[in-house]
Amino acid sequence: MNARPKKSFGQHFLHDHRYVDWIVSAIAPRADDFILEIGPGEGALTLPLLAAAGKLTAIELDADLIPDLQARATRAGELHIIHADVLKVDFSALAHSHGVPRLRIAGNLPYYISSPILFHCVEHAAAIQDMHFMLQKEVVDRMAAEPGSKVYGRLSVMLQLACRVEPLFNVPPEAFRPPPKVESAVVRLVPLEPHELHDARPEHVYAVVKAAFGQRRKTLANALKQLLDSDAIRRADVDPKARAETLAPADFVRLAKAYADL
Ligand code: SAM
Repeated sequence: MNARPKKSFGQHFLHDHRYVDWIVSAIAPRADDFILEIGPGEGALTLPLLAAAGKLTAIELDADLIPDLQARATRAGELHIIHADVLKVDFSALAHSHGVPRLRIAGNLPYYISSPILFHCVEHAAAIQDMHFMLQKEVVDRMAAEPGSKVYGRLSVMLQLACRVEPLFNVPPEAFRPPPKVESAVVRLVPLEPHELHDARPEHVYAVVKAAFGQRRKTLANALKQLLDSDAIRRADVDPKARAETLAPADFVRLAKAYADL
């Protein structure tokens, strides 16, 4: 099938089979896995994953794509498509309702909401075994960036506190129909257990990280002044004259705890 891709849904369909094979090999699906695919589209990943795992649940926002995909899947295995916005699906409840401890999530993500989807996954990290996502390469670079790097920021800290971030390989625009304007990359995320976000309330960590990187050229004393004074920053064992981009992810957890203690 060759439906006209919808820009508003971030549709870029993967048509180069080499990359499909690489992604499926990276996931290495097994018969007892509960695989959840985000945005199956025309099924480039869905059908091979379904063939390997025997069953698969997918969440697709575009109702027009669902009947054809459902029809093509009948011979490959048991495909359950949820017509919904992925951001409204509670992954923990989904795992619970299927009696599985953890989901394996995969997807060639719609780029217009890639960061909200990643934060949504972090929120449900305890219900996730691993994730394999296609994203803009620039986003994968930010997720994996280390302190001191120009692209180290909110996404790096929040993702690295909850997951091991493993960039796998790059994918050129020509591998998609239509080609996106940017280079893409596939990344594996494995939730850490226990993850460092458990040591503080994630919303407190997020508030501190947001304020600190919101004004990344300023010292922390300045950037965080609405949340913490210099003494509180020092009590968290962080130098108030430092800048956000030099702090390790764990430093933000201590700052969040200091913020919660005020
Ligand atoms: N997986 C297919 C592939 O590799 O060819 C399609 C990938 S395409 C980049 C992104 C898919 O996500 C599209 O099918 C799009 O309709 C779907 N999508 C967009 N926004 C969504 C949302 N909020 N929730 C669930 N699916 C969404």
